[in-house]
Amino acid sequence: QAKRLGHNHVQVYQDSMSFQFKSSAAMRSSLQEAIEKQQLRLHYQPIVRCNDLQVVGYEALLRWEREPGKFVSPSEFIPLAEMTGQIIPLSEWVFRQAFMDAVEFQKEGPRKISVNLSTLHFNRSEFADHLEQTLVETGCKPEWIELELTESILMENTDYAIAVLKRLREQKFSIALDDFGTGFSSLSYLKRLPMDKVKIDRSFIQGIRTHKSDRVLVSSVIKIAQSLDFAVVAEGVETPQQAEFVTELGCNYMQGYYFGRPVAKEDL
Ligand code: C2E
Ligand code: MG
Ligand code: MG
Ligand code: MG
Repeated sequence: QAKRLGHNHVQVYQDSMSFQFKSSAAMRSSLQEAIEKQQLRLHYQPIVRCNDLQVVGYEALLRWEREPGKFVSPSEFIPLAEMTGQIIPLSEWVFRQAFMDAVEFQKEGPRKISVNLSTLHFNRSEFADHLEQTLVETGCKPEWIELELTESILMENTDYAIAVLKRLREQKFSIALDDFGTGFSSLSYLKRLPMDKVKIDRSFIQGIRTHKSDRVLVSSVIKIAQSLDFAVVAEGVETPQQAEFVTELGCNYMQGYYFGRPVAKEDL
């Protein structure tokens, strides 16, 4: 699978990990190597405001460069890293790097850097303290950071998750619910959540042209989320038609290949 990046960058994902790693022990030592040999990278994808198409922020997306120019997709190694516990050092690396980069990004103007949360890391008692300490060490401000969580984090222990989210918001981080619509998406808990944004999963955006059900769903999610005072981000916008459709529905922000693929900070 090759994904094109900009004009002349070709990002090649290696074959599936089950082929690459015969055992979880091999996987474990290889991930350890990724950290030690500094094979981890953050790529950034722009997030634009619908009404004026200005870039308001970037989402940090983790990449593992196993060999020069060969990237392993996070959907391949993050679930495994969650299983082995190696997601903790990995996630700590992500936060430190993203916070350092966030400091740099402010030179462009006010920018929010979105960082994806790992369930295991989020559920550790020292998580919020760790973020606070990383802010101090990097000179990053919490107002520059948006934390993206998925519904799976909320499903496990909803009350605990809500308490942690409250604390993170008191620390001045903003919170976004990622991949909305793919999990349980119970509207009854949506209104209880201390958060700022809802990101509509790209599977619904991509069905807009062909499926009436996706159009109805996207339009309803925008209305419901906004009535609960959440801003809405459309993920996976690939065509001008999709951009126009969500903008007409009053969506606040968009992200997707139409505006830019995730690339190294230097290539943005
Ligand atoms: P996500 O947070 O929902 O990130 C969006 C994914 O959609 C990214 O895949 C991005 O490259 C892809 N994408 C963006 N625009 C488009 C588009 O227009 N079309 C299509 N087809 N795809 C688009 P990626 O980078 O492979 O990441 C996959 C998932 O891995 C992320 O989903 C996130 O859940 C997880 N992930 C990535 N980085 C991290 C990280 O640093 N920590 C943790 N815990 N998870 C991460
Ligand atoms: Mg995300
Ligand atoms: Mg998403
Ligand atoms: Mg996702």
